[in-house]
Amino acid sequence: MEKREQLYEGKAKKVYCTDDPDLLIVSYKDDATALNGKKRGSILGKGAINNRITNAMMQLLEKNGIPTHYVRELNDRETLVKKVDIIPLEVIVRNISAGHFASRYGVKEGIVFDDPTIEISYKNDELDDPLLNASHAIALKLATREELDTIKEMALRTNAILKEFFRSINVELVDFKLEFGKTSDGRIVLADEISPDTCRFWDATTHEKLDKDRFRRDMGGIEDAYQEMMKRVDSVL
Ligand code: ADP
Ligand code: UDP
Repeated sequence: MEKREQLYEGKAKKVYCTDDPDLLIVSYKDDATALNGKKRGSILGKGAINNRITNAMMQLLEKNGIPTHYVRELNDRETLVKKVDIIPLEVIVRNISAGHFASRYGVKEGIVFDDPTIEISYKNDELDDPLLNASHAIALKLATREELDTIKEMALRTNAILKEFFRSINVELVDFKLEFGKTSDGRIVLADEISPDTCRFWDATTHEKLDKDRFRRDMGGIEDAYQEMMKRVDSVL
């Protein structure tokens, strides 16, 4: 597989073309941002950890019937994926109140929901990723009703699989963000990443935060938290 020109540089990853038009290489960076890019920094070793955790999760999901963009890991920070047209929605699933859910609705963090919640926002940095509902997404032609139904069903199945996996390593899956895309043959697959950058992870016993909230909230111990998550994921692979 030959790496060709850089297609895109995002906040956390670079994306490269390959000699196959249906395949891309994603390269995970140590750069970290929060508040939609207004807070910037670097987390030593993050790129390699997010690459490893994402790939483990994508393989787990594939094994459990969720189609993903994952093809194969190339090295410690690069992975070969299927090229997709990203549907510009951030799909957020929550099992426990935290972050914007807690601030938006004026409740404390840590309320365990009887059933997961799901919400979508418009993936648009200039607009600060505004929340929208299904009828808005359809009106804006971001996705069709059928695509939204598929995405919702895949996101909730993904939640059930991931929640059980993280429970097995004594981690509560509080909430997370997914992105979906369409392959060249029109199938919807799970894309992007599943990592401490895009999920909230709490130690199930101590409720210690093991994710990017340590960076967002200047809590310190960021590298250690990412290392700890990688160690626990590795321990069951
Ligand atoms: P951002 O664009 O939000 O700064 P990243 O730094 O993670 O995020 O950049 C990676 C970009 O690649 C994202 O815009 C994401 O939507 C996109 N992407 C993820 N997986 C794929 C894929 N399989 N095909 C095409 N684009 C993808
Ligand atoms: N999230 C993300 N990218 C975003 C926004 C949210 O990966 O642009 C993840 C975030 O890590 C958390 C979940 O989605 O696990 C819910 O985030 P929330 O809406 O509470 O917003 P945040 O407080 O993270 O900005």
